[in-house]
Amino acid sequence: MIGNVYQTVCPGCNMGCGLYIREDEEGALAVDFMKSSPANLGKLCRFGMKLAHHYSKATSMVDGKEASVEDAVKAASDKLKGADVTMLGVGNTTNEESLAFSKVADALGTVVNTGMGVYSELPTECHPTVGVGITLDEIESANRIALFVDPYIQYPLLVRRILAAKKIGASVVSVGWKDLHLADENRYIDPDLYESELGLDSESVIIADVHPNTDPGWVKRMLNLALKTQAKILFMKPFVNATGVDLLCKGTGQKGISEIMDGINEGSIKTLVTLNSDPIELMPDSDAAAATLTKLDNLIVISSRDGPVNKMADIVIATEPLYAKAGSFMNVEGLLLNNSGESTTGIDSMSTLSQNLGGEAMDYQNLHNNVLESIVQKYTKPKYKELTCEVLDIGPVEEKGNLIYLYNPFMWFDQSDDNDFVMVNMNMVNKLGLSKGGMIALTSDAGTVNMRYRVEDMPDGLILTAKKLPVATEWTTIVSTEAV
Ligand code: SF4
Repeated sequence: MIGNVYQTVCPGCNMGCGLYIREDEEGALAVDFMKSSPANLGKLCRFGMKLAHHYSKATSMVDGKEASVEDAVKAASDKLKGADVTMLGVGNTTNEESLAFSKVADALGTVVNTGMGVYSELPTECHPTVGVGITLDEIESANRIALFVDPYIQYPLLVRRILAAKKIGASVVSVGWKDLHLADENRYIDPDLYESELGLDSESVIIADVHPNTDPGWVKRMLNLALKTQAKILFMKPFVNATGVDLLCKGTGQKGISEIMDGINEGSIKTLVTLNSDPIELMPDSDAAAATLTKLDNLIVISSRDGPVNKMADIVIATEPLYAKAGSFMNVEGLLLNNSGESTTGIDSMSTLSQNLGGEAMDYQNLHNNVLESIVQKYTKPKYKELTCEVLDIGPVEEKGNLIYLYNPFMWFDQSDDNDFVMVNMNMVNKLGLSKGGMIALTSDAGTVNMRYRVEDMPDGLILTAKKLPVATEWTTIVSTEAV
């Protein structure tokens, strides 16, 4: 850290784009480019450029009243002693804080859940491939790339890697929800035809993603496609340290976020502790998630950001902003990326919490050494782990709705964006008689919302949204449509 300039990593997704955050004397933030960053060479997407809006500082609270961090930690210790506790940490913070959180879990006799329920549905021999895929450089040397994500909207800095591959002769096939300009072919085909129709072989790369609301059947289908075609595969993830937290918490619990919310609704989970993980932002239906959280006896939030869950929490333990933390992140390809910040408020708070609960004391340096020993030695020079599992049984295919979330960094943090429209094709415009500049009404069991629309080349009948909508109850929802 030089003066008030912090070298850090964008928390928008698991690409791990490096940047500088400049903090002036009044606390106002500005973003500067970091040309030396290995993942992005200084480039940032719209989310990265708007990061100054993202870092809303959390305030420590006890029972709705502002409190010192020490009082919040003491109140949390009192609530947690002897309680049956569920812990959630999806990877929106450093490796070192994630490790400290897992040591608090040890003191409580529980585990940290990463919210990625999909892992529990996959054979363990597939986990390394899902956790750390090929390097980003390897995308550039592929002969053929099959895209199962929309890189422009979902993981924007992937675009330059794909364009670099195209420049030296790669062909790109998109199997997403809408036509992509960078694709040579856009295919909307039956998933059973992927193997025979996509032209993939051992020189090819499949790019898909996993996140807390992913259908496990879909991930199995992607793994089967890689197995059968010998293509390499890369699973992108939406959280800056999703890879690190998965490796640190491996074997200690992979309860999905939906499973946790079901447990709260059924009354089997009464105390929830979160680390920079907001269920209201993470669940497809924010209102339903907020209603679920009211059923808890104790909601304890450890966070650097002022998200919606903070307002519902019994206790908030506020930590320093992500850019100011001492610590490291592991990006999607297994590279360790270090923050230049030196603050350890979060770690010190969790150390006190751990000791109050009968657990061990922690300090940053020990945690950092532990991270280096336990995960970095294996992954700083990532090597693609060939899939060794058998072809997987996909199980029943999930019923899909016609309104589909195109998850992206703005959605994961429920942050406002310019994408205040849904995407439909021209056939729907004509069929509904949508007027230019008019709106489309979407109605589900959860109500009606009127939205502006944009025309895209995409399959008939679908409506895509890159913004959370109050009518959506899952990542796909059945809605009826009419012109307004
Ligand atoms: S691609 Fe991901 S990590 Fe990079 S700037 Fe955009 S949101 Fe941030």
